[in-house]
Amino acid sequence: MNKIQMKTPLVELDGDEMTRVLWQPIKDKLLKPFIDLKTEYYDLGLKKRDESDDQITVDAAKAIMKYGVGVKNATITPNQARVEEYGLKKQWKSPNGTIRAMLDGTVFRKPIIVKNIAPAVRFWKKPIVVGRHAYGDIYKNAEIYSEKGGKLEVIATDKDGNVLRNTIVEVDSPCVVMGMHNTIPSITSFARACFEYALDQKIDCWFSAKDTISKTYDQTFKNVFEKIYNEEYKAKFEAAGISYRYTLIDDMVARLMKSEGGLLWACKNYDGDVMSDMIASSFGSLAMMSSVLVSPHGYFEYEAAHGTVQRHYYKYKAGEKTSTNPVALIFAWTGALRKRGELDNLPDLIAFCDKLEKAVIDLIESGIMTGDLAKLCDPPALKVLDSFEFLDEIAKKL
Ligand code: NAP
Ligand code: MG
Repeated sequence: MNKIQMKTPLVELDGDEMTRVLWQPIKDKLLKPFIDLKTEYYDLGLKKRDESDDQITVDAAKAIMKYGVGVKNATITPNQARVEEYGLKKQWKSPNGTIRAMLDGTVFRKPIIVKNIAPAVRFWKKPIVVGRHAYGDIYKNAEIYSEKGGKLEVIATDKDGNVLRNTIVEVDSPCVVMGMHNTIPSITSFARACFEYALDQKIDCWFSAKDTISKTYDQTFKNVFEKIYNEEYKAKFEAAGISYRYTLIDDMVARLMKSEGGLLWACKNYDGDVMSDMIASSFGSLAMMSSVLVSPHGYFEYEAAHGTVQRHYYKYKAGEKTSTNPVALIFAWTGALRKRGELDNLPDLIAFCDKLEKAVIDLIESGIMTGDLAKLCDPPALKVLDSFEFLDEIAKKL
């Protein structure tokens, strides 16, 4: 059989623990027999990050900026316990944070749907994608607890010393107060990334906020979205047969419950944090959630939404069977390879990615799955496999 040829290398970022264990067999069993796989490999395993003083993470992000598309395995974000476990030089920053800052991206999370796992909301038939703005707001705030209260204000002093101030309220009781911000460039990038993603997936884009109450802050988000849409995307959206609309967030939530899905929900940082977990749990499991970082410059980085599944890794190391579900990792590969296929005009590669995804979904829908899904599925699973047996079954279907 002639293997499918690639033109440009895919940037491959390896990771840690159980997902590292699964990475190689996914390539060996599902990809390499069919594709002449061309990748530029970066080992983001914690040991290599430590040895290189985290330079490897920066190099990997630069490679994505050079080639356009990357696929990333889950990586440990070290805390104190990890510093001791791995004897690290220091508590390195989150690789995802480093890469996101360099690519200037927005994160999109999309559930992978199978028929035998019903969403908790029975109307939902198609994926609901959450696009989360990952900068500012409550995540970079300043807060005060005041015993006596008094005059509470927001103050902005610019670099020329000009002062803008606004009184929030005057109170004479103990109180809490908070200040937060966002920047116009960051909101602009967020809007562009959402419009790019909606165009790429050919789905409608809805942005929600609370501009009726927040007449400057949320109103600015709304205005930036509207301006970018009208100036740069309106014609492209109309040509693709999709639409953009702004909706108050409470109205959005009410409508979403009655909709059949199939849209991108652009969320401010906090809304996206909360709502993406709600959507993930409604559609079943973290292992059935794909994730992609899209930058306004046209770079794409695909990954699974879950972490390194530490608990399973320790079981694996102790020689026990593991039920780790590889579906989101496989979809990270197909997402990245399909994008490579689109950019390089390789219809065979795109068709293979469709076929592999279909093989995975067909297998689960035929009642063969890993333990995490067996707990949720209806009718009950026919066969529950460990991670490696499950990969073998997918390979047979190909
Ligand atoms: P996790 O790896 O997502 O796993 C949490 C739990 O979710 C697992 O114990 C397991 O539940 C279930 N789970 C997740 N993925 C699964 C899969 N593919 N198949 C079956 N079950 C799955 O989160 P964590 O244990 O809190 O974090 C572990 C490490 O991952 C941390 O060091 C963290 O820094 C890192 N992390 C990395 C990323 C990333 O690189 N994108 C994201 C998040 C976390 P049961 O134990 O009930 O089976
Ligand atoms: Mg959350």
